Amino acid sequence: MKVYADYAASTPCDNRVVQAMLPYFTDEFGNADSQHCFGRETAKAVADARDTVAKILGCKPNELYFTGSGTEADNWALKGVALHRKDKGNHVIISSIEHHAILVAAEWLENNGFRVTRLPVDGTGLVHVEDLEKALDDQTTIVSVMYANNEVGTIQPIKQLAEAAHKHGALFHTDAVQAIPYMNIDVKELGVDLLTISGHKFYGPKGVGALYIRNGVKIDKLICGGGQERAQRGGTTNTPAVVGMARALQLSRENLAENNAYIAALRDHFEQRVEREIPFIRQNGNKAHRVPSIANYSFEFVEGEGILMLLDFNGIAVSSGSACSSGSLDPSHVLLAMGVPIEVSHGSIRFSFGKHNTAEQVDYIVDTLKQTISRLREMSPLFDLKKGGTYNV
Ligand code: PLP
Repeated sequence: MKVYADYAASTPCDNRVVQAMLPYFTDEFGNADSQHCFGRETAKAVADARDTVAKILGCKPNELYFTGSGTEADNWALKGVALHRKDKGNHVIISSIEHHAILVAAEWLENNGFRVTRLPVDGTGLVHVEDLEKALDDQTTIVSVMYANNEVGTIQPIKQLAEAAHKHGALFHTDAVQAIPYMNIDVKELGVDLLTISGHKFYGPKGVGALYIRNGVKIDKLICGGGQERAQRGGTTNTPAVVGMARALQLSRENLAENNAYIAALRDHFEQRVEREIPFIRQNGNKAHRVPSIANYSFEFVEGEGILMLLDFNGIAVSSGSACSSGSLDPSHVLLAMGVPIEVSHGSIRFSFGKHNTAEQVDYIVDTLKQTISRLREMSPLFDLKKGGTYNV
């Protein structure tokens, strides 16, 4: 059996999305900025896509900018605002569990004279508003806290965090890449100034994202070039991709509650079995505030890479840490920030379910996982010590 349980890394493109995109590769290939009928047809498709996404996010179409990825939108938000507002102050606040798109952008700012505060999280991965309030000062220009975490799924109190930032005159950005597939988001109701989404997390195409920038927010450009995206982001518009992302977002709003309930039921079944049948584990994340798709466990006395390899050998695709850091043996910065001991964090796996998974697949994962963990523990010197009673965790 081949089972994909890595939906937080990427999702398969919905067939209806592919159908919506196809004409824009061939017959309707014109450059959306060309002044002839070929261009006008594509420009209309781009405008419709912008209207669709804007309507779903509760903003005006001219507050939405298409980008080449969620990573680009995150970089643009953080660097663009920090650089534009550098005369006001040089202090930037992020959470310590951000995706690398924000973490590394913040490091870049730090190397270029900015001061960065990384907010702590509690043991379940939650940022507390009081910690943000303590960190804010009159030099703070932007705060960026992700909506839902990509490794453990914890959902942050974005509205309250944005309010706290605003009280101190700072702007607020949220990376909603992992939240938008599961949550209805109205940017005005949420009170954020900037918000990132990415197409391939909700059954849309890869290589396309969007940044909401509230009208009135001033921001430096990240990508200079032609006059596309109201001269804020150069580069010929990727018509098929933006059309596909809009269609995917539209489809994701249909039956959102039913799909969420279906995925959550699979995840709950998985967790119940894992917690009942596999000893010496730790569940990571906040069970009360999280997206329905993600289950994250640390399996003590074994290495995540070994688990991944053996599961992969049995046709099961999951992930250790975030997709972009897999392939590296570094412990997850998210789990470390949550206080998971480093040796335990090494044995952590993220399972992320989607609408194509079945209960049978979930059972196959748990059965294989059980065998995998006991096989690896048989070979683990640490587990030997534990059995002998001389190892304390
Ligand atoms: N932010 C979060 C929370 C993510 O999970 C991801 C993708 O893994 C990104 C940003 C980056 O998005 P993209 O793959 O479109 O660059």
